Amino acid sequence: MASASVHPLPPGSTIGIMGGGQLGRMTALAAARLGYKCHIFTPETDSPGEQVSAAATIADYEDRKALKSFAGSVDVVTFEFENVPAESAEYLAEHALVRPGAQCLAIAQDRLKEKDFINKTAPTTPYRKVTSAEDLAKAADEIGRPAVLKTSRMGYDGKGQVLIAPDCDYAAAWAAMGAEIGILEGFVDLDCEVSVITARSPHGGWVTYPAVENRHVNHILDTTLAPARLPGDLAEQAVAIAHDLADALDLVGLLAVEMFVTRDKRILVNELAPRPHNSGHWTMDACPTSQFEQLVRAVCGLPLGSVEAHHDAVMKNLIGDDVTGWPDLLADPGARLHLYGKAEARPGRKMGHVNRLYPKGQLPNG
Ligand code: AMP
Repeated sequence: MASASVHPLPPGSTIGIMGGGQLGRMTALAAARLGYKCHIFTPETDSPGEQVSAAATIADYEDRKALKSFAGSVDVVTFEFENVPAESAEYLAEHALVRPGAQCLAIAQDRLKEKDFINKTAPTTPYRKVTSAEDLAKAADEIGRPAVLKTSRMGYDGKGQVLIAPDCDYAAAWAAMGAEIGILEGFVDLDCEVSVITARSPHGGWVTYPAVENRHVNHILDTTLAPARLPGDLAEQAVAIAHDLADALDLVGLLAVEMFVTRDKRILVNELAPRPHNSGHWTMDACPTSQFEQLVRAVCGLPLGSVEAHHDAVMKNLIGDDVTGWPDLLADPGARLHLYGKAEARPGRKMGHVNRLYPKGQLPNG
């Protein structure tokens, strides 16, 4: 349809969001502040996104009838979840303006395609496609051990990952990964993990938040420190990489780029998410424009907002039972609490987050 349109969608327009999780919820809240309505498309009832949106379609992501009717009721479609089938995104694009385009999802939801794409612009750790235990043994000989075996699709928060140690039983590792197509990656000797979020408008204009440092516990993001404390020009390199990748994708919206910083001070790109990202939640309290407002601005063709942080920040995720600490957090004047409206605090489930602000240059050590 009008995918080449660069006319701004005025306040009062409706933004369709594929996915009903916390990222959709916070996008809908930011959209409401600017006078936009949101319509959530999700297979789940009572989702965090639906709770704060003007409308919801509860249907499978492959349901063509529901997709068509949803497309007809919104002015632009965006995503809070990159594993919406790329075919559904293509179908939506026949009936509505879709930002970012289906090509961005197709790349981000397949680790092999993603690594092939990234390597045209920025370095990654060495990797090989593997489709059997024999392939795995051969790839490990080529790449070296330790290495990490991952599913090529639908992997997140470390799910479907197996460490390939020097004394590996390849058949057992292949079975443990549990998918038909995998990717073997060289194990990165990490100094730290960083990410960068960039926003790109339909006019090709862009803004990029500073690089942040991410600390994981059990493969799930636990804490983000903003900005990342990186030596030399690594922070600028990280920002330039994110911008170049968003340009190469011809992306309209947000792109989060997860990167490894090696002990010998190189940046290797790990993965891409063409949507808001957990490591950008600090922007809600420390920047004039949050990542969620930035997404609204980008997909509606509005001027992009300032990414100049007025404070440094630490974002801590509330995972599972952590959320029971909400009364103490509310009583703490330094804590800015964000809860996602999820009824059940299952282990590993992201229930909310807390931002704490610090004068610039005064992030706590540790
Ligand atoms: P991913 O699902 O690719 O985001 O991986 C989850 C986490 O596992 C990352 O944030 C890293 O902490 C770790 N990890 C993933 N891939 C590698 C790798 N090739 N080398 C070292 N650590 C890794």
